Amino acid sequence: MIAVLKDGVSDVQKKNLVNWLKKQGVDVHLSEGQFQTIIGLVGDTSKIDIDLLGGLEIIESVTRISEPFKCANRRFHPADTVVTVGEGSGAVKIGGGNFAIIAGPCSVESEEQIVGIAKAVKSSGARLLRGGAFKPRTSPYDFQGLRGEGLELLRIARRETGLPIVTEIMSAAHLDMFADVDLIQVGARNMQNFELLKELGHADKPILLKRGLASTLKEWLMSAEYIMAGGNERIILCERGIRSYDSYTRNVLDLSAVPMIRELSHLPIIVDPSHATGKSRLVKPMSMAATAAGADGLIIEVHNDPEHALCDGAQSLTPAQFEEVASKVYSIRNLIA
Ligand code: PEP
Ligand code: MN
Repeated sequence: MIAVLKDGVSDVQKKNLVNWLKKQGVDVHLSEGQFQTIIGLVGDTSKIDIDLLGGLEIIESVTRISEPFKCANRRFHPADTVVTVGEGSGAVKIGGGNFAIIAGPCSVESEEQIVGIAKAVKSSGARLLRGGAFKPRTSPYDFQGLRGEGLELLRIARRETGLPIVTEIMSAAHLDMFADVDLIQVGARNMQNFELLKELGHADKPILLKRGLASTLKEWLMSAEYIMAGGNERIILCERGIRSYDSYTRNVLDLSAVPMIRELSHLPIIVDPSHATGKSRLVKPMSMAATAAGADGLIIEVHNDPEHALCDGAQSLTPAQFEEVASKVYSIRNLIA
């Protein structure tokens, strides 16, 4: 981090500033030019409040030159992280050249529904089954999910198909109920639920961390950092579109996040074209584009009867449509691999 001092700062003011910074645990290098004094801060600058420093009367400007995320940073961990989900012969690897499609309904609705969809998506090439049991709905009057019963139905679908299960957690208080979930999803709305992230840092489980509705890549990586700082390094990032001003699509799918995150971090990144677009007919082109952009996988909503789905029917593919999308995606994957 580099701070430039204003003209005319006295020696006493400089000394006080240097002492204050050193007390925060960083090395301070003062470089006094003819017109300007520059201070270089070296070491763990993550504890320095950049806004507080920049707001001091004697400071002209402050620039951070190293990223505040350390565990998630590719600079300190050049090799791709490979996250293994599930156990034994059903285990699936994501990242480092391993690609996987997660598919299933927005919400688990019944045994017949989830088992039927699980069998269908498996036969079309999905490697993991998704399904919401606890649903983060904008309205408290909308279907909130089958909760514990939904988790039980996911277990049944896993038993029937062997697919590892992916489902969203909304509260750290539910962690015990998620003990045998294979991949725990943190949804967009909870990306900055820091207490939840800290708890997941102590969990012995891979985490699917979705990008917040209006989060920058840095904020997203800092959320991953919260989990990693607690010791859990098994994180898969998921780009699911961000808020913008156009209303034709539900969100704007930021595909440049895929190569950008790959540059910044060693964590795997997958794409959710369903929540990004909100329209089932856009899922195929965006799945293909995300695969071509180098995503490590996709998470796609599939429903046996989208018109009557209790949640997100408009963006859900039928099993037949999913089969077509998966086959196109795998051909693109073969082309670029
Ligand atoms: C979901 O995956 O069902 C979901 C609610 O996604 P998001 O958090 O991306 O909105
Ligand atoms: Mn959904």
